[in-house]
Amino acid sequence: MPKANETVLEIDLGALTQNFNYLKSKLQPNTKFLAVVKAFAYGSDSVEIAKHLEKLEVDYLAVAYTKEGVVLRDAGITTPILVLHPQPVNFKTIIEYCLEPSIYNVKVLKAFIKVAEEQKQNNYPVHIKFNTGLNRLGFWESDVDYIASKLKATRSIMAKSIFSHLAASEDLNEIEFTNRQIESFKTTAKSFEDQLGYRPWLHMCNTSGVINYPEAHLDMVRCGIGLYGFGNSAEEDKMLKPVASLKSVISQIHMIEKGETVGYNRAYTAKGFEKTATIPIGHADGIGRQYGNKKGFVFINGKKAPIIGNVCMDMIMVNITHIDCNEGDEVIIFDANNKASDLAESANTISYEILTAISQRVKRYFYN
Ligand SMILES: *Cc1c(COP(=O)(O)O)cnc(C)c1O
Repeated sequence: MPKANETVLEIDLGALTQNFNYLKSKLQPNTKFLAVVKAFAYGSDSVEIAKHLEKLEVDYLAVAYTKEGVVLRDAGITTPILVLHPQPVNFKTIIEYCLEPSIYNVKVLKAFIKVAEEQKQNNYPVHIKFNTGLNRLGFWESDVDYIASKLKATRSIMAKSIFSHLAASEDLNEIEFTNRQIESFKTTAKSFEDQLGYRPWLHMCNTSGVINYPEAHLDMVRCGIGLYGFGNSAEEDKMLKPVASLKSVISQIHMIEKGETVGYNRAYTAKGFEKTATIPIGHADGIGRQYGNKKGFVFINGKKAPIIGNVCMDMIMVNITHIDCNEGDEVIIFDANNKASDLAESANTISYEILTAISQRVKRYFYN
C-alpha cells in the first residue's frame, strides 16, 4: 500500500469478503443474507461494495432511500434491493427501477397498491414492516387483518417478506426485551400467514442480532455494520476486520512558543514550546467539531497525536511535540488497527456515525 499523500479513504474488499464469510458462518445454510448498503455502504461506496457483494452471491441488498437504490441499478446491480424507508412520492420510481419497498403504514400500503395497479403490475414484491418495540416504523400486530384484506383484494402486489427490527440486539442487559420482540414477531408472522394462505419470508436480525440471537435468524438476516468490520462488542470485533481506513498527510508543521494559540477562537494555548501539524481534513470531510479540543486524535509514525483547538472546515491541527515527523508524512485517522470505533468513542459516539460521516469529497481507493 503506497503511503497516503492526500486525504483518502482506502477500502479493503478482501476484508469485506472475510466479514461476509464470518457472518455467513453464523447462519444455517439455508438462511438468506441481505447486505445493508445504505448511506454509501456505511460511508465507503455503495456501488463498489454492492458489486463486490454481488460477486459473493449475496441474496439481497437494502438501502434506506429510493435514490440510493436507483444509483445501484444505474451501476448495473441486478440483485433484489429492499428500500427500507420509501415515501409515496417515490413509488413510480421504485417500480421503474425494480426496487422493492418496505410497507410500513396504511398510507404507504394504499399508495403503493394504487401505483402498482396503475402500472399494471402482477404480484409486485413488497416487504411488510412490523413494529415490535423499536417504535420507529411499522404496522402493529393488530393491523394484520387489515393488511391481509388489502393484499387479498389486489393482484398487483404480494408480500415477499414480513420483517421487524430489534431495538437493542447488542445490549445483553436487554435480553428479556429482545426476546419479547422476537416472540411478538413470531406471533404476528403466524397470524399473517394464516390469514394470507401463503408464507412470506421472515427476517428481523441486524448484525448484533445475528451474533446474539441465533433463534431469530429465521429466513433471512440483514447485516450492515458487521460487513464493514464492527461487531458492537470487543469479542466480535476480534473476528471482524474494518474495511475502511481514513488516511491523510501532514501539510505543515509549526513551532510555537508558550502562550501562543492555535486555530479559530484561540481555543488552544501552548503550555510551552510546542510543535503542531496541520492536516487537510476537517468537519466538511466528516471529522465533526466534537472531535476538537483534545477529544479526538490521529496517529503519526505510530504515535497518537491529539487534535488541538477547534476542528476547521477543511483542516485539523494536532500536537506533535512528542513525535519525530516531517511535512509530507502519512497520518492515520483510523485503520484496521487504530479503530474508527475508538475514535468515535472519544467523542461519545459510535462507529456507525463516524463511518457514514466521511463526505463524498474524500477520495475513495479500493484494493483487494
Ligand atoms: C440499518 C439497518 C440494518 C443494519 O443494521 P446493522 O446494525 O448495521 O447490522 C438492518 N435492518 C434495518 C431495518 C436497518 O435500518
